[in-house]
Amino acid sequence: MSRHIVCLTFDFDTMSGFIARGMTTPTPLSRGEFGVIGARRILDLMRARGIRATWFVPGFTIETYPYECEAVVEGNHEVAHHSWAHIPPANQTREEEEADLVRANEAIRRLTGRKARGYRSPSWDLSADTIDLLILHGFLYDSSLMGGDYSPYRARRGDRAVLGEPYHFGAETELIEMPISWSLDDYPHFEFVRTPQTVLSGLQSPRVVMQNWLDEFHYMKQSVEFGVLTYTMHPFVIGRGYRMLALEDFLTKLTDAGATFMTMEDAARAARAELLGQK
Ligand SMILES: [Zn+2]
Repeated sequence: MSRHIVCLTFDFDTMSGFIARGMTTPTPLSRGEFGVIGARRILDLMRARGIRATWFVPGFTIETYPYECEAVVEGNHEVAHHSWAHIPPANQTREEEEADLVRANEAIRRLTGRKARGYRSPSWDLSADTIDLLILHGFLYDSSLMGGDYSPYRARRGDRAVLGEPYHFGAETELIEMPISWSLDDYPHFEFVRTPQTVLSGLQSPRVVMQNWLDEFHYMKQSVEFGVLTYTMHPFVIGRGYRMLALEDFLTKLTDAGATFMTMEDAARAARAELLGQK
């Protein structure tokens, strides 16, 4: 039986990403604050459609907005790991990374009664230690790499890139990589960001972007019997009214096209059964 799985994922960052970038004046912080309004809208939509999603929630958000995070749990969604302070692991020492990982996992355990099964790095930039640390701390899957589109794969440890040498591939692990892409992330398409270094223009039509997202699903469907497509959204981005309307239409089209919606944990278990023959 063919299975074409869609994972809707929401990175519930609130202000954490702005603080991690040093953007601590009132307006950028308020931009993150809007994520709480967006989250309520998303939870209502998911409830109306009967969809379970995966929420990657930094420990910062769990401790800043406990009631809003309890609403995510009450909505029967998966709560997954997205660091405590939204600092990309690539910018941390191994000790700093592990301390943040443990702190955030404790916040998730207090919220949900169990530690996270899945991890997504802030700003999608792993360190050389991340895969080892995730295995050490009992994770089932990671969702931060781009080495596939709709085919989960086994994450490798110990890859080495040396200028002037062929690539050195490390060993495959049992950690399931659930690949992602900036093209399937709302942030670069929609957010206008101006810093002294860059301008991210964003502000594209959600209908146009989501047609591309839908075509990714159609291509998966015509290409493979089993596939998992992961869409990444942020409540403070997708939660604007006109984007929510586009999201509603997008979900209807995915449903009509035969998508099976799953949490990432359930999809990763299905992928692991395909890859390793383990439930
Ligand atoms: Zn994030």
